[in-house]
Amino acid sequence: MKRRVKKSSILVLIFVIVVVTCLIWYTINTLNYHKTYQYKLRKIGYSKEEIEIMDELKDNTKDYILSIDYNKDITLFIKEKYFIETNLKDYLEYYKENDYDITNVVSIVNVKANKEWYSDTKKTDLSKGHLMLTNKFNYLDNSYNSDNMVSVSKQYSYGENQMLTKETFNAFLNMFNAAKKEGLTLIINSSYRSYEEQDEVYNDYKSSRGEEYADKIAARAGFSEHQTGMAVDIQTYGSTGATFEEFDEFKWLSENAYKYGFILRYPKGKEHITGYEYESWHYRYVGVEVAEYIHNNNITFDEYYAYFIEKN
Ligand SMILES: [Zn+2]
Repeated sequence: MKRRVKKSSILVLIFVIVVVTCLIWYTINTLNYHKTYQYKLRKIGYSKEEIEIMDELKDNTKDYILSIDYNKDITLFIKEKYFIETNLKDYLEYYKENDYDITNVVSIVNVKANKEWYSDTKKTDLSKGHLMLTNKFNYLDNSYNSDNMVSVSKQYSYGENQMLTKETFNAFLNMFNAAKKEGLTLIINSSYRSYEEQDEVYNDYKSSRGEEYADKIAARAGFSEHQTGMAVDIQTYGSTGATFEEFDEFKWLSENAYKYGFILRYPKGKEHITGYEYESWHYRYVGVEVAEYIHNNNITFDEYYAYFIEKN
């Protein structure tokens, strides 16, 4: 009898211990789960699928998402090809206030075109070499000149004293010869421009047509790609800026320039990203690899730079 009692008390004790352990375990787990982003995001309305998409984000981005109301657009932005995490807040704000679709909003914010042109400017990062970016937010000092410039022989150009970086001119020669084989002639109409020359070009437009017009078609001094020595304005016999795109030379360049490292720098339909009117004649040397990517993916150099060069 005594033995039996002892045995059952032990069983009861074990049972109690197991139950208490389970309760403690359950409580700790629940408390820990309540601390997870998964729980907190679920609580403000995100679905399992959405939370999975957010999984790769850094903690401070998740904290930001938790600090605002449920927003069904967040995961659409994350899934974008050129999504940059640190821009999420700006994407959402810009998307709310403008009529662009999500893909365009990502491009616009990535290149900082959600800001006023020429605001928040900084010096061009010269260490990027032939991938340096000069646009309405990145400028060259008035003293900047590439130390690797060569003169362009007159047979390839209109006017006197055309100059390009050696690398750009060599690439142009390869392109020129390939076009020649097809019976086409590429003529350099404008190439390197010093800070002072660009200042004159811009101010001429500004004084004759006003600042707004000048800013659409010309860069302010320091902000011109022509100062890099890696930009060429191309024409052919009989063409002008307005008509170049009707010539076979333009069609050939559209299909082949990237093979020689050149890109159409200010394409049609990308004015809101580049800040410039479409220029069928303005080509920028960026090297074959980058030019091919830009050509195949139909993006601008500004977008390429923001995502592949500046972000890393
Ligand atoms: Zn140009």
